[in-house]
Amino acid sequence: MSSFLEAIKDLLFPPTCLGCTRRLATSRPPFFCADCLAEVVYLGSPCCACCGIPFPTGVDHLCGDCLVHPPAFDVARSVLLYQPPVATVLRTLKFGGQLTGLTTLGALASQSPFMHHFTPPDYIVPVPLHLSRLRQRGFNQARSIAAACFPHWQDRIKINLLLRNRPTVPQTDLSGEERRKNLKNAFIPVEDIRFAKKRILLVDDIFTTGSTVSECSLALRRAGVARIEVFTLARSLAP
Ligand SMILES: [Zn+2]
Ligand SMILES: [Zn+2]
Repeated sequence: MSSFLEAIKDLLFPPTCLGCTRRLATSRPPFFCADCLAEVVYLGSPCCACCGIPFPTGVDHLCGDCLVHPPAFDVARSVLLYQPPVATVLRTLKFGGQLTGLTTLGALASQSPFMHHFTPPDYIVPVPLHLSRLRQRGFNQARSIAAACFPHWQDRIKINLLLRNRPTVPQTDLSGEERRKNLKNAFIPVEDIRFAKKRILLVDDIFTTGSTVSECSLALRRAGVARIEVFTLARSLAP
């Protein structure tokens, strides 16, 4: 859009901050005021070389969990800390269907040092929803996030290769062990042959204990995937 048209649009529909609804002077994402933008925390090194959990000091190395129980994925990285205003945008996306936040999330992700570290994948696989949840919500937020954060790999996003074969209860209120049980064998690849020796970038919105992406990764490994990298937009560091 030309800058003249953008100026007219801003006059008619002034953009507001997605964190605090304050009016904004800019019409370019991210749609956050200076105060909200100051609350956005990027994750980076030092972190666990495998699961990406941040360390306060030192260099990248394997965390204790990954040493004792190596995850089924090769590497996982989240770009932002899960806290307001990022958490606000993710919640309105997931539960309110507010797709307007996607350009902001995409713009934030593009500034992350981790974005250049992902191996070009054969397929991008968003963590699937069960059909009943998909019907209820109308869209899969992991797929929307994949499209917003990897516009250059748009044609590699595949939504029908990995399925959630039964409804699971929301992970939010479950402990780590309950989360693993809840998801056990919940994901199935449609055809193993499509995954054999492939490089997969698995995408989800939030990484909390990693049980969702780990269970997906187990299913992908069984189907013969060669490399699994995990992208999540935000990481929750609450216990
Ligand atoms: Zn604000
Ligand atoms: Zn780790």
